[in-house]
Amino acid sequence: TFRPYVVGNWKMHGTRAMLAEARAIDRAAERLIKVEVALAPPATLVHACRKEATLIGIGAQDCHPADGGAHTGDISAAMLKDAGAGFVIVGHSERRADHSESDALVRQKAEAALAVGLTVIVCVGETAAQRDAGTAESVVSGQLAGSLPPSDSPAEQVTVAYEPVWAIGTGNTATPEDVAAMHAHIRDELKRIYGEGGAAVRILYGGSVKPENAAQLLAVENVGGALVGGASLTAESFLGIIVAAA
Ligand code: 13P
Repeated sequence: TFRPYVVGNWKMHGTRAMLAEARAIDRAAERLIKVEVALAPPATLVHACRKEATLIGIGAQDCHPADGGAHTGDISAAMLKDAGAGFVIVGHSERRADHSESDALVRQKAEAALAVGLTVIVCVGETAAQRDAGTAESVVSGQLAGSLPPSDSPAEQVTVAYEPVWAIGTGNTATPEDVAAMHAHIRDELKRIYGEGGAAVRILYGGSVKPENAAQLLAVENVGGALVGGASLTAESFLGIIVAAA
């Protein structure tokens, strides 16, 4: 009985020229009320996107765990909220890899975001080598156990995104069977971690989601939506995914 949640992660793409895409997505979302739509532009565009879009969620791609202080170049959760963000993505595999982010740091970031009233999308996912070694489920279990923030109402505050690293930006989507197995595993872990509340936490799939494969992936049990990179950069392709989710 929850709406599918389709979130676009623009990563390090986007100048003000792309605000037209955000506006077009927002206009179309008006007709697609069965889907909860959100965009995570780069931090420089959060405020402008919030002004441009009236219906869809706008969030950020990362935050610093501290409230403020001597952290040159970093942005706090409170600053993102002030700029108009309603949520923040934490623990994306690109941040775990590019910035050596640990599970413990990801959890601190998630806690900082919840503390100022943002919701969080916590990303997990194994590498190709880990899947080949047969450790995909245990890797994801460890990431969940280490990265998820404590919460009394996890279904409202926390979304999990399963993004197998080997599927990101490669065009190799996980098969519906692999997605079903991993999302069922994540559901079990969420119930273990959060108790009853874990049953309603949305679990998004991410990794080469496109208009052509979205319907099939979104139909899989325990898939509550999609986290979309490349295909969220134009309104045309992102709307193709949103329509498939409706
Ligand atoms: P792609 O959709 O480009 O594979 O990226 C997925 C992703 O990392 C979204 O956070």
